[in-house]
Amino acid sequence: MLLRLVSGKGLPKMTALTVAVALAAAPLQALAEQEKGPPVLRDAETEQLLREYTRPILRVAGLEKQNIQVVIINESVFNAFVADGRRIFVNYGALMQSLTPNQITGVLAHETGHLAGGHLAKLREQLAQAQTQMIIAMLLGVGALAAGARSGNSNGGLTNAGAAAISAPQEVIRRNLLSYQRQQEENADRAGVKFLTATGQSAKGMYDTFKRFTDDSLFAGHDADPYVQSHPMPAERVAALEELARSSPYWDKKDDPALQLRHDMMRAKISAFMERQDTVYRRYPLSDNSLPARYAHAIATYLHGDPRSALAQIDGLIQLQPANPYFYELRGQALLEGGKPVEAIAPLRKAVQLSNNAPLIEMLLGQALVATDNKAYTDEAIAILRAAVARETEAPLGFAQLAMAYGQKGDYAEADLASAQAAYLRGDNKTARDLASRAKTRFAVGSPGWVKADDIVAAKPLPGQKND
Ligand SMILES: [Zn+2]
Repeated sequence: MLLRLVSGKGLPKMTALTVAVALAAAPLQALAEQEKGPPVLRDAETEQLLREYTRPILRVAGLEKQNIQVVIINESVFNAFVADGRRIFVNYGALMQSLTPNQITGVLAHETGHLAGGHLAKLREQLAQAQTQMIIAMLLGVGALAAGARSGNSNGGLTNAGAAAISAPQEVIRRNLLSYQRQQEENADRAGVKFLTATGQSAKGMYDTFKRFTDDSLFAGHDADPYVQSHPMPAERVAALEELARSSPYWDKKDDPALQLRHDMMRAKISAFMERQDTVYRRYPLSDNSLPARYAHAIATYLHGDPRSALAQIDGLIQLQPANPYFYELRGQALLEGGKPVEAIAPLRKAVQLSNNAPLIEMLLGQALVATDNKAYTDEAIAILRAAVARETEAPLGFAQLAMAYGQKGDYAEADLASAQAAYLRGDNKTARDLASRAKTRFAVGSPGWVKADDIVAAKPLPGQKND
């Protein structure tokens, strides 16, 4: 499943960086009115791959214990950045524009270089801690609603690109506050190459990507590129990077073909879910019979075409890769969204099993079990959803489904509590507190549920959120 966390109303299509700028510049009241942060994309397949790209890098950078997550931002332009020392943000556009695992891994290694080098200190000093948290909350889609891809379908990815109008004062702040200094860039390059070399990887992908930005900058419009704005790329920096990268014994090392295929599959999936249909079929013409093209075709058919044809195409994919959890996940998602939750259960069980219990897939299975409206499934749904939200604590979808499952069981105390938790994660503090207050009246005073509900009632809203 590729979930788009869709904002409730017309969100200005800002880059994440622009949001940070707006937050630094605007009074909190104005921030509250912006309400919904830029949507974040959640997808088990993509996140798993990005974890595999980053884990070795973080390990050699000495950051493995910090549980740093990669968060995918719903923006089609190229961007990647770190903002809080806990997360690396990457636009889906950066994934689409990285043709090899090595290219995006190089960018992630460079960003890790900023993290390891403590380059965020300047940002931290200048942004109040509270505001930083607000940025993160917005980036993570607090205030956003989880929805299936179909419902967000009219909001095609590429049409979202770069529509933000950036006012002059914000522009000044962006340049001065969020841009890395040249010395930091060079240090991050050096650190990135070191991490790549230490993990037996080439820095050619990093060099190729950054070189492309200097080449692009020969043309007008490079000022609009968020990545180039925050990571200045003068030609001499890129030349120094090239020299360094070429000195590595791994310069010519190619990505493992199996990993390249998974990367291609991820890009095909993102394209099919996020890009306009004509763009998808231009990238992956019907004459292209490769596995990634067939993946893109199956998803595009499920989103825009005949459901039965989509299922047949997905079955064809399963025949080719019977151990690929994401094909079963797609089959389950297509059936669930096609109003066939009972039929969705078996493929989703298989997807959960093959993915080693990926929480996002468990949430989809829980959703299918709940959607059957069959009480025989309720206890199982609750068990699966509880396991999922214990490991994936920031996804409101899991708590929302859990609330429905408890509702089916007639356990209204737990249902209220789970609804309150979902509302809290969506950034709807008032609803969260109302529901938590009601939950408290239904739990025995001092019981674990009562304590959790009390925590929500007492929780401070994120800065800028309405607290009335
Ligand atoms: Zn940089």
